[in-house]
Amino acid sequence: MANYDPNNIFAKILRGELPAYKVFEDEKVFAFLDIMPRAPGHTLVVPKAPARTIIDIAPDDLAHVIKATQNIARAAMTVFAADGITIQQFNEPAGGQVVFHLHVHMIPRKNGVALKPPLSFKEEPAVLSEHASRLAGALQG
Ligand code: 5GP
Repeated sequence: MANYDPNNIFAKILRGELPAYKVFEDEKVFAFLDIMPRAPGHTLVVPKAPARTIIDIAPDDLAHVIKATQNIARAAMTVFAADGITIQQFNEPAGGQVVFHLHVHMIPRKNGVALKPPLSFKEEPAVLSEHASRLAGALQG
């Protein structure tokens, strides 16, 4: 397996070198909207620790990512009036990974509505901004 590349896009977002539509942050996790959402509210949950995949992340850091994903999923059910949630996590090119900093996809779902294909649609900034602020607001309580 390749080493962690500190110049991947999500590492740059974590360092504040690239912008993101932030949904949640604590000492170990950062969550932000996917700019090419497969459904409204599609969120990426990443560890702050520099892990490439599920193979190299420390178990405690992985547990923290999953706990945060659950919290965000609970809030997203209400905010996006979702009927369900799809969780995806890809590792290495063979596993479908495109950005090489571990991330979990949290995708709100509606009955009968298919996911858009990956990387097929870039959402408008105003829509992303509104979705991020609603989800972040729900997570703050
Ligand atoms: P994966 O590596 O799990 O296949 O997917 C990477 C995800 O990152 C894709 O869903 C893609 O839309 C998303 N993505 C790629 N570049 C950016 C970016 O610059 N900002 C954000 N927020 N998402 C991105």
